[in-house]
Amino acid sequence: VKVEDKLYQNRYHVDEGRPHVRISPEAAGSATLQTLVKVCPAGCYEQADDGTVEVVPDGCMECGTCRILTDGTGLLEWSYPRGGYGIQFKFG
Ligand code: SF4
Repeated sequence: VKVEDKLYQNRYHVDEGRPHVRISPEAAGSATLQTLVKVCPAGCYEQADDGTVEVVPDGCMECGTCRILTDGTGLLEWSYPRGGYGIQFKFG
């Protein structure tokens, strides 16, 4: 079984209008943000042609990788989704 097939079994409850991961306005142009495009396993980060990075955390797996990489930098505002929202993992 491929990893992608396993991930497909997860379910996401998106908290519309309340993203739990946001890029700080002061973070524009940070090289660390460009790294997140490569390391996020869910592909939540995208780099535009002008080099700016955006995050759409609808498919976030709450792995914490981006949070750890930016810890102490102020680049991200990261919190867990509020109760009832976020990823619902399918086990087995
Ligand atoms: Fe991607 Fe993990 Fe960060 Fe979610 S917590 S946006 S899955 S790196």
